[in-house]
Amino acid sequence: MRRVYLDNSATTRVDGEVVAAMLPYLTDNFGNASSTHFWGQQARQAIEDARRRVAGCLNANPGEIVFVSGGTESDNLAIKGVAEAYAEKGRHLITTRFEHSAVVNSCADLESRGWQVTYLPVYSEGIVRIEDLRAALTDNTVLVSVMHANNEIGTIQPIGEISRVIRERREAGQNHLFLHTDAVQTVGKIPVDVQDLGVDLLSCSSHKFNGPKGCGVLYVRRGVRLHKQLHGGHHERDLRSGTENVAQIVGLARALELATADLPARMEHCRRLRDRLESTLLAEVPYIRVNGDPSRRVPGVTNINFDFVEGEGLQISLDLKGIAVSTGSACSSGATEPSHVLVALGLDAETGRGTIRFSFGRDNDEEDVDQVVRVLPELVGKLRQLSPRAREIFAREIAESAVGRHV
Ligand code: PLP
Repeated sequence: MRRVYLDNSATTRVDGEVVAAMLPYLTDNFGNASSTHFWGQQARQAIEDARRRVAGCLNANPGEIVFVSGGTESDNLAIKGVAEAYAEKGRHLITTRFEHSAVVNSCADLESRGWQVTYLPVYSEGIVRIEDLRAALTDNTVLVSVMHANNEIGTIQPIGEISRVIRERREAGQNHLFLHTDAVQTVGKIPVDVQDLGVDLLSCSSHKFNGPKGCGVLYVRRGVRLHKQLHGGHHERDLRSGTENVAQIVGLARALELATADLPARMEHCRRLRDRLESTLLAEVPYIRVNGDPSRRVPGVTNINFDFVEGEGLQISLDLKGIAVSTGSACSSGATEPSHVLVALGLDAETGRGTIRFSFGRDNDEEDVDQVVRVLPELVGKLRQLSPRAREIFAREIAESAVGRHV
């Protein structure tokens, strides 16, 4: 069976060139970067070289790049790190209702320890509004954390505008107010420049852009203090203890360089495939909708709602046909519930249960789209036959169109 992978927002295949770059650091160059001998210095050089290259791709200074174990750790370190370091300046944070669980649960942990968190609405278009941010900011706010693009629906948030609001408050004397963005779904996928965005902290994760899993970056603008979350040695400017994962770091840097160099072509490729899938499905399958503002999305993602269908059932049916996608719902206590992202968009439980995310990457081609288009309408039709409500609506439509013809 020909298999089609359309789950590139979940993870991506590691690029062959990335594997080649990593291999020496898993074999001959196995040193510990803290050692002062030849092997240690080889490892140290590889890490510092990777840091320079990552900094170049993000338009940061090498000293502002902290290597961590992935997006989750990066978000945790940014949010808890800033909140704890500036606790005496204020204990209020602002985020959105549809962040990744790494952000949501870092905020929840802080709330359980006495911090106050405001969750901004994102409306049906899946975008935060500046007026809501302005209304939420107080003299006690120390951190605003808004994701660059949402992982389920792909909508891009106005980070540049948010940073301007924050800069205004700083200029008015609120010096201890910082902006973090979770850019896990944008780095390597659309241009990300920390100066243009005006962020103080930015998180990204290597496995989302054809690098290895278990490696990520936290960009920390010079001058921003963080309370470390992992205690041990003085690695990574004493912000993140633990022997550096040299091969992964080298792989991350190579993957980011490759993605950055090829960015316009990759974006165009993903956009073309996504649009082809979306427009064909919208034309061929009734009762479907695209979630989130379609004009403000990363190029390779579409999140589609199929009325009268359980997303889990559709995802399993597609998997049996060799097509990998993901749903916007998860099973909790035996019942399928829509994700917090779909709830934040205002979808009711029944509608939210019928969503599928298709996410494209570099390795997809037109045949992948065609394979989905060949099987999906029929699968949706079959699943809808199981829905009494769908049967009732379709029967009424058929009767009405017969009456129409008669008249
Ligand atoms: N943030 C976002 C927006 C994500 O999509 C993900 C992963 O799916 C993460 C954070 C967590 O990244 P990691 O898998 O590297 O821990």
